[in-house]
Amino acid sequence: MSPTDVAVIGAGLTGTLLAVRLAHRGHSVTLYERRADPRASAVHEGRSINLAMSTRGLDALERAGLAADVRAHGVPMRGRMIHARDGELAFQPYSTNPEHHLLSVDRDRLNATLLDAAEREPGVRLLFEHKLVDLSLRGDAVTFEHQGATVDVAHAVVIGADGAYSAVRGRLQRTDRFRYEQDYLEHGYKELTIPAAPDGAPRIATDALHIWPRGGHMMIALANPDASFTCTLFWPFGGPSGFEVIDTAPEVQDVFARDFADALGLIPDLAEQYLRNPTGSLVTIRCAPWNHGGRALLIGDAAHAVVPFYGQGANAALEDVSILLDALEATDDDWAAAFASFAEQRKPDADALAELALDNFVEMRDKVASRRFRLVTRLRQYAERLFPRRYIPLYEMVTFSRTPYAAAVARAERQDRLVVRGAVALVGVVALLGVTIGVLAWS
Ligand code: FAD
Repeated sequence: MSPTDVAVIGAGLTGTLLAVRLAHRGHSVTLYERRADPRASAVHEGRSINLAMSTRGLDALERAGLAADVRAHGVPMRGRMIHARDGELAFQPYSTNPEHHLLSVDRDRLNATLLDAAEREPGVRLLFEHKLVDLSLRGDAVTFEHQGATVDVAHAVVIGADGAYSAVRGRLQRTDRFRYEQDYLEHGYKELTIPAAPDGAPRIATDALHIWPRGGHMMIALANPDASFTCTLFWPFGGPSGFEVIDTAPEVQDVFARDFADALGLIPDLAEQYLRNPTGSLVTIRCAPWNHGGRALLIGDAAHAVVPFYGQGANAALEDVSILLDALEATDDDWAAAFASFAEQRKPDADALAELALDNFVEMRDKVASRRFRLVTRLRQYAERLFPRRYIPLYEMVTFSRTPYAAAVARAERQDRLVVRGAVALVGVVALLGVTIGVLAWS
């Protein structure tokens, strides 16, 4: 293996972890980031996204020796706390294994930890305020915009970790037969903060991911280490309770009084926050091929942005780094072979995750509150208890294992067919027994 000069575009979660791992492999990495250094500014008004971090992301961080900080500052969440309209609470554990939990992690803090780690690596050069504007796919030219000037540099390999609106992907889109699809949800999101109580205590339970499912829209809340909570409203843009319509303080109060009454008292400056904080959109990106020979590759959200409802976007993006590094190891750093193998292995999983994430939106905003959902969940839990080695719930495989997403979905479908058949057979046997007993008693 000979060291290669690699440009990683985007110093978000994926790009920083990738830079660290590539440097550990002996490559020389320049990490370019469009924004100024986020560690220098404490202002993240309304964009303090909390991530539900789970096994895939933690494992990827562990491989770079960086999981300890996340574990130390993450807040464990053991299940969903469902808030009914009348304020009644119902706790639904994520797993029958008491050791399995999600960690609520501040994305900015995680990014800062990763940036610190990248900065410590002698093999990584970190350049902020460098926005990729173009790259050659034939030669080694790469062009950035830096403080209003154009900067031309040369790198043998370019990896686009530049997020859902990737400029590297924009360049690949100009190649023959590149497939690209972007789908926006009709819903957007807005962050709100539930502050800690005056005595510093949390106002709701910290060990759960709180959900206010209301059919067409919902709110969730994840705990922060300082006993505050970051809430996210997932509301449609249009319609009677949409972001575009609810734009005065009384309207915000009315919607909360009607749909999220028990949260109303938790956010003293609710209307101000609502009116001040930005509204974001939610996009699914599917594209292929992810690589252009050994010259360029897309990774993380740049290759496969998903909506956030399975809590897997960042987990999958970080897991990408593990899979790419395994591919480099297996090919002795043959970039073209490693990129092709990574894309071939990962694309079906990214597609499976995109579907899971979209389906889970319906589950979270609607089904979790329904009787049918609770019955099906109970049936699955019985199956898991009866056949603990054979029956592994889909959520468990996706969240608490590294089973490839597509394989997890296929296995869950097989299991569910067996459970349904088993339940039908059981009902049949019970009915037959009933009839037999009836006949015997009658005769
Ligand atoms: P990004 O985080 O988008 O980073 C890309 C970086 O590239 C940025 O720093 C950007 O400034 C930079 N960049 C962009 N263009 C250029 C350019 N031209 N030149 C140079 N730099 C550039 N995931 C989970 O796993 N669990 C969750 O609970 C979860 N919740 C979420 C909630 C919400 C509301 C949202 C929106 C997302 C959530 N996600 C979650 C998804 C997660 O945030 C993303 O999957 C993750 O941030 C992707 O990381 P990335 O590094 O690939 O992309």
